Amino acid sequence: MDTNLVIIGGGITGLSAAWEAQKNLKPGQITLLESSSRWGGKIITGQIQLGNARFIVDGGPESFITRKPDVWELANELGILDEVIDPGSETRHIYVLDGGRPAAVPLTPRLFITSRLLSARAKFRLLAEPFIPPRKDPGDESLADFANRRLGMEAQEKMLGPILAGIYNTDPARQSVLATSPIMREMEAEAGSLVLAAVQRMFRKTTNANGMPKPPRFIAFKHGAQTLVDALVNNLRATLRLKAPVRKISKIPSGYTIHLQNGSQIKASHVLITTPANVATNLLSGEFEPVAAKLSAIRHTNIGTISLVYKKQDIPENPHIHGLMIPRREKRAIDAVTFTSLKMPERGAEGYVLLRVFLGGARPEMVTSDKTTLLKEVRRELTNLLGITAEPLAELDYRWADSFPQADVGHLDRVAEVESLLPPGLALTGSSYRGIGVPDCIRQGRETIKTLLFNS
Ligand SMILES: Cc1cc2nc3c(=O)[nH]c(=O)nc-3n(C[C@H](O)[C@H](O)[C@H](O)COP(=O)(O)OP(=O)(O)OC[C@H]3O[C@@H](n4cnc5c(N)ncnc54)[C@H](O)[C@@H]3O)c2cc1C
Repeated sequence: MDTNLVIIGGGITGLSAAWEAQKNLKPGQITLLESSSRWGGKIITGQIQLGNARFIVDGGPESFITRKPDVWELANELGILDEVIDPGSETRHIYVLDGGRPAAVPLTPRLFITSRLLSARAKFRLLAEPFIPPRKDPGDESLADFANRRLGMEAQEKMLGPILAGIYNTDPARQSVLATSPIMREMEAEAGSLVLAAVQRMFRKTTNANGMPKPPRFIAFKHGAQTLVDALVNNLRATLRLKAPVRKISKIPSGYTIHLQNGSQIKASHVLITTPANVATNLLSGEFEPVAAKLSAIRHTNIGTISLVYKKQDIPENPHIHGLMIPRREKRAIDAVTFTSLKMPERGAEGYVLLRVFLGGARPEMVTSDKTTLLKEVRRELTNLLGITAEPLAELDYRWADSFPQADVGHLDRVAEVESLLPPGLALTGSSYRGIGVPDCIRQGRETIKTLLFNS
């Protein structure tokens, strides 16, 4: 059979893979199958319209780190850099809930000295970080163990843990440092200390090799992250099929048969599965049982967001809080709150406040509860934590059950084992495997397609 590639899953991983594949294949050789009625998977942008006021709401990812340059580079290739905005630092005006009250994360010297978040003992322990010997062996450990080792238990529990748990919606005691934050181990290895490595990195060149200025540390899209998805879809030359859920994959002498839910079949020489690993487990079980058995060990949890619009005068004056992270030990119904309209005023409108609440980590059932219960719980927490008693003028929620991958300690070894069991011509890639961020997904989609087409 001539090369005939089928990509399963039309999230950012699948779309990036198709984009890369079209460099080498003709349009008739690439098929992209997506189960839902839209492209983008967890990248989804909605709008709230209140009279003349319009609010742009990202339901999933909103901002992208450029240390991993994949989003920036892809936006450049697609000619949409004029859509890119600087959302500011993710860590500016970040608070952590401590004993029911928001406490500023002490990221400046003044805040560090005056912070009530950390005890004097914990502050001295943090300052001793450059003198703690680095770990020498390459083995994995949990994020909590890493942070305890380098920064001390209190800083881990009260500061780093909640921030990372907020980013990854996970428990730092189970999460693999090598899979999710390898940069921290790289910094430890390069300078023997996180503090010294951060200082060294600050003084590095601020231009790229080609003399172009570097992008900001984080980027977002003026009209929401869906801009990236729409640009990709508009530029793909392939067979693109929505509402085409795949049920199963089987092996045939010339390659594979893809069985769709509607009973139809497609034959392919190469297959790339980009769905979350729990979906891939179902697609492969039976026919590829050893792979499915290993894959089923990758956990997936619930996640969701609800964005709410308020009148500005209904929000108690607290101009400093851009984001509030809520550690699990606080036993709250929500995991984090970000003031989107403070971070990105272009997303809101004069006289209003747009905020976004994250769900599903501390109380997974928030993601599957009915809308009335969800709103009631969210409003109760916003009153308790931030003193917001007014009713929101509008809200928009996005929720995913059993779909947020968790990279537990040892994750990368498990992924390598799964990959070693795959027959030639069949590959798995995306957020469940080698990095969950959108830049990781783009990189994986592009790299895996090259390996699949040319090395298998
Ligand atoms: C609330 C939230 C906030 C986030 N914030 C950020 C952020 O700020 N920055 C960042 O970099 N990352 C962030 N992320 C992570 C990032 O958005 C995701 O990891 C990434 O978008 C996943 O892309 P993917 O293509 O691998 O998977 P998905 O987006 O899950 O796409 C998989 C696709 O497969 C389809 N599919 C499923 N089953 C089948 C089937 N049987 N047949 C065919 N198709 C199927 C699905 O419908 C879906 O479209 C966030 C995620 C969430 C949920």
